[in-house]
Amino acid sequence: MTNVVFLGPPGAGKGTQAIRFAEARGIPHVSTGDMLRAAVAAGSELGRQVQEIMDGGRLVPDDVIAAVVAARLREDDCAVGFVLDGFPRTVVQAEVLEAELASRSLALDHVVQLEVEDAELTRRMLARSQGRADDTPEVIQQRLEVYASQTAPLISYYGGKGLLRRVDGLGTVDEIAERTAAAVS
Ligand code: AMP
Repeated sequence: MTNVVFLGPPGAGKGTQAIRFAEARGIPHVSTGDMLRAAVAAGSELGRQVQEIMDGGRLVPDDVIAAVVAARLREDDCAVGFVLDGFPRTVVQAEVLEAELASRSLALDHVVQLEVEDAELTRRMLARSQGRADDTPEVIQQRLEVYASQTAPLISYYGGKGLLRRVDGLGTVDEIAERTAAAVS
């Protein structure tokens, strides 16, 4: 059983690497962004609640997303471990996750930090053009700022717990996947 968090700024290739890693280990890939986009597409109560926030590149409230993740991690497929992609994004979320796992006698094993510098991130995000409503230059800038102010503090938070595995995010998908596998061995 391996419980892993992938951490990194928007555009770092976090989603791609999280999926690769999950497939290689045979554990579920749990992406909060994907779950929220599915809720928006389904027009559910949750989707209506978060759509405007997502379109603006801001973070949905900690209690809302923490409840979604806690429920997901209690599903049967997560009994063999999980790869969290896009959660936690604040220190409060990290604390709630830790408490939720501890209540089930579980804990995180690794936090993979994909490191890519800012100029490269902006370039990649503008180039990838996935047709996402939050991929315009203004919203990308907003998402980078939110990362720097609210999510980057998790680097020292997890560093202090001895869980952080830093991975250079510059290179081909295969190269980064190899580095990640080596960092989490
Ligand atoms: P992502 O696909 O991970 O970039 O997430 C897309 C958007 O979903 C983010 O910009 C936020 O609006 C929202 N979101 C995803 N995960 C979280 C989270 N852990 N906390 C708050 N908002 C989130």
